[in-house]
Amino acid sequence: MHPLLEKKGFILDVDGVIGRGEKPIPPAVEAVNRLISMGKKVVFVSNNSTRSRKIYMQRFKEFGVEVTEDQMFLTTYVTATYIKQNYGKSKVFTTGEPGLVEELKLAGHEIVDYDEAEILVVGSNRQISFEILTKALRMCLDRDKIYVATNPDKIFPSEDGPVPGTGMIIGALYWMTDRMPDCICGKPGKVIMQQALDHLQLKADEVVVVGDQIDVDVLAGKNIGAPTLLVLSGVTTKQNLSRMIEKFKVKPDYVLDDLSQLFSA
Ligand SMILES: [Mg+2]
Repeated sequence: MHPLLEKKGFILDVDGVIGRGEKPIPPAVEAVNRLISMGKKVVFVSNNSTRSRKIYMQRFKEFGVEVTEDQMFLTTYVTATYIKQNYGKSKVFTTGEPGLVEELKLAGHEIVDYDEAEILVVGSNRQISFEILTKALRMCLDRDKIYVATNPDKIFPSEDGPVPGTGMIIGALYWMTDRMPDCICGKPGKVIMQQALDHLQLKADEVVVVGDQIDVDVLAGKNIGAPTLLVLSGVTTKQNLSRMIEKFKVKPDYVLDDLSQLFSA
């Protein structure tokens, strides 16, 4: 039996672990369902900043994974929760898409224009405009405004090649104002991981953090002191593994071809 099967909790990345874009990775999906049926506590953590949990549930249904919304930690939800926990229900202006707006509202925040807002929430937006960037810029220039970003991803590996991540907005604002977010909620930061641990009611050494990216998932695990499993079913491959470890100077505790190898290795 694989030693990681002794862990009580599994904190799993989504893209590159149980699916690639819209397509599931069937053996990995089966492995997740097997973990759940063994009584393991499973949560998903994703840096996705454009979808609400409600929208994301549909993908999980199509993949065939048996989970509920409260097992899902997307940076849309995580950011809305972080703001509520730290600043209470707030007036926010966001650069983000409807999925982020939905989670902000569900958490009790009020979506307002930039001149009324207390908090700037930067999330990815595939229709970002000059107008939205202008408003975000003006909030950034005001040091009394709190600036929170969903996730730090510079580039997102889409099915037909790399596309800009939330970093396109963080980067533009930084170049214009020399200001970085007061908090970035997604991986490899601690906010998303801590929310997942709190939900599981487990300590870091009782879980394993699973993902396909060394500088995102493995680093997120290291940052909370949890053991890490890198799967080679996404961004990191057998071919680039050693180069990636060297580049990011972070080493996963375990490496498997995909999640199903937990049950065969
Ligand atoms: Mg991934």
